[in-house]
Formats: sequence, structure tokens, C-alpha cells
Amino acid sequence: MEKVMLLRYGEIFLKGRNRPFFEKVLQNNIKKALKSFEDIKVIRAQGRFFVENYSDELAVVQALTRVFGLVSISPAYKIEKDYEKIISVSKQLMEEEFMERQEEKLTFKVESRRADKQFPMDSMAINKDLGGILLNEFPRLKVDVHKPDIELQVEIREYCYMYSKIIPCAGGMPVGTNGKAALLLSGGIDSPVAGWMIAKRGVALIAVHYHSFPYTSDRSKEKVIELGKILTRYCGPIRLHIVPFTRIQQELYEKCPDEQLTILMRRYMMKIAEKVALREGAAALVTGESIGQVASQTIESLAVTNDAVSMPVFQPLIGFDKVDIMNTAKTIGTYETSILPYEDCCTVFTPRHPVTKPRLEKIVKSEQLINGDELIQEALDNIEVIEL
Ligand code: ATP
Ligand code: MG
Repeated sequence: MEKVMLLRYGEIFLKGRNRPFFEKVLQNNIKKALKSFEDIKVIRAQGRFFVENYSDELAVVQALTRVFGLVSISPAYKIEKDYEKIISVSKQLMEEEFMERQEEKLTFKVESRRADKQFPMDSMAINKDLGGILLNEFPRLKVDVHKPDIELQVEIREYCYMYSKIIPCAGGMPVGTNGKAALLLSGGIDSPVAGWMIAKRGVALIAVHYHSFPYTSDRSKEKVIELGKILTRYCGPIRLHIVPFTRIQQELYEKCPDEQLTILMRRYMMKIAEKVALREGAAALVTGESIGQVASQTIESLAVTNDAVSMPVFQPLIGFDKVDIMNTAKTIGTYETSILPYEDCCTVFTPRHPVTKPRLEKIVKSEQLINGDELIQEALDNIEVIEL
């Protein structure tokens, strides 16, 4: 008996005339997510996708739950529209449920849909008859039409699809349907989560990382590469730009007031990222700040930082508590890598008493104490690009 995966998508239905485009992108993303499985088939039909011809169900489920735009999936038996077969598969599905759940008693209902009106029984008749047969077969079963443990689904279309599980997926929109943005990716917990959230809205990502060799080691670079790779599981290939940042930091350190160093550094990061974004066809920047988390993330600091660029800056974590960000990091699989010990843009350049309410005029004045344009150009000329 053939096992297939039934894939549902939601929000892209809302897109009216654009729907075929969204479906096409989603189908491609599904294929990419499954490219390591040989001979697998991805078919589009009746406002859904079917994935067929696979053997490792668990691995396929895992890969699909990461594809943005999918709402849920169900591993289903695909059989002929033959009532005797439907009966035998429903018994089998029930047995599987009892095995898996290890419960003495379970409640259930049968939920059938008859898209093919040629099939001799209507959905009410199937629900009733099949329910009765299952009650007879399994004395440990009881009917509960409101909150059953098991919903046995029977869909009668060109074939009959039967399943008892609906596995939630990530939701969101297919990556590539909403333009491209540049993620400022540090080695911390926040920025990978920020990138994931924006990618979830259908935005493709490039990444920019500032490296302060020799103050930050190759190990910290490897860590960022690893974080970027984890993100690619969700959002496809990422061009990671490693930007040498030491010269700018040293210049700022030598020439500018100590308490302003962090905010000045942040402004230079934004300026460089904007240039990289323009070069790469990205139309927005993404960072991982949340209000008040550290001194450089007061409302005043954020305003002065964002003022450095004219591109929109997306900060999807702005209203999140750290624990919530950490939980998302754990769910998406970046947390373990993020907490590995590493040096951030070097403690040498971190002021002892950073300003928490910077004034824009003052910061802009300090910023001009170094030869910014030249230093930015030098950094841009020495970017290392890594294709993830
Ligand atoms: P994260 O956990 O993402 O490192 P954070 O809480 O440490 O964030 P900051 O150090 O203030 O916060 O950085 C704020 C944002 O600036 C980060 O979320 C990230 O988007 C960007 N950023 C910081 N350092 C770097 C870096 N070395 N390279 C690229 N982007 C960076
Ligand atoms: Mg950080």
C-alpha cells in the first residue's frame, strides 16, 4: 500500500492573481528541501501538494516542517476508491494509533470528504458506517465528536487518501516571494532568530558578518558560518559576507570618546551593510535588537543607530523577551551553536560606561573624526564571500 505525504498551504491563497506564482515558488522550495531524497516526486493538485515515492518518512516530515508557506502535512495511505479497502485501512490506522499512544482507551471520530460524487456513499454515510465498524472491531474505542483523540480522515478524490495525523508546519510565506534583505548576523542568540522570522515572511536572505581579526578568532567565524548554514535549511542558499572590521574599530577607539564607541561601531556596521545590500539587490536590513536588552538597545540608541542608513531596518525581535527569543532559537536549532563561547567584536573596544541616551548631533560629529568613507571602502574591498 502506497504511503504519500499530503501538504497544505494557507496564506498564499489570499494572494488572488498572484497565486500561481506563489504556488510555483513554494513547489520549487519543497523540491529543494527534499533534494537529497532520490526519486521523490512533488505533485501539485487541488490546492495542495503531494509528495510521493519516499521511504524515510521521518526525514521527509522533518525537512517539510521547515519549508515556509506550508501550514501542515499528513502522511496518508493512498488507495483505490474501494470501500472494502477503506475499511481495512481504517482498522490498520487505528492499530497504529493504539501502538503509538500506548493508552488503554481512546476516543475517535471519522471525518470523511467526498470530492468525487460518483462514489456511492456520501460522507455522512461513510462516517456512520465506518465508525460502527471500528467500534465493533476495537472495544477500547469510544466516539467523541467534539474533542476526539483521533480523527480518522477519509478523502475521496481521484484516489482515496486516509490518515489520522495533521502535523503542523512553520507557516509563513514561501521564501523568494517577498524580495531580499540583508541580515546582520553576529554569533549571538538573537540575530539568527531575527533572520529566521523575516525569511518566514517570504524574504530571501543574504548575511553580513563583521570580523575583527585578530581580536576575534577563526573559531568565531566558523561559528557564524555554522549559524548561517542552519538558517539555509529554512531559507535556502545564503551569501555570507565576512567584513573585516578591525581597522574601523581601531580608528574609532583612538579618535572618538570612549563612551560612544558602541554606538559608533553600530552605525558603521549599518552603513557597510547598506552598501552590501544595495550591491546584492537586497532592499532592507535585518538586525536582532530588542528594546532595552543592553545599553545600545535603548530607544534613543536604536534611533541613532538606524539613522545611519536610509534603507528600512527590520528588527523583528523588538518586543520580545530574551526567554522567548531563546525558546525560538532552540526550536529552530540555532541555540546550541549560539551559546558556544566566542569573542564578540572584542571586549577591548567595549566602553566601560556606554551612553544610553546618545544625541544624534554629537554622535554624527564624533563619527566624522575618522576617515569614514575611505575606511568603509577599504572594508568593502576586502569582503570575503562564502556561499552557504
Ligand atoms: P545578537 O544576539 O544577535 O548578537 P546582541 O543582543 O548581542 O544580539 P548587539 O551586540 O547589540 O546585540 O547587536 C545588535 C545587532 O547588531 C545584532 O542582533 C546583529 O544583528 C548586529 N550585530 C552585532 N554584532 C555583529 C557582528 N559582529 N556582525 C554582524 N552583525 C552584528
Ligand atoms: Mg551579539
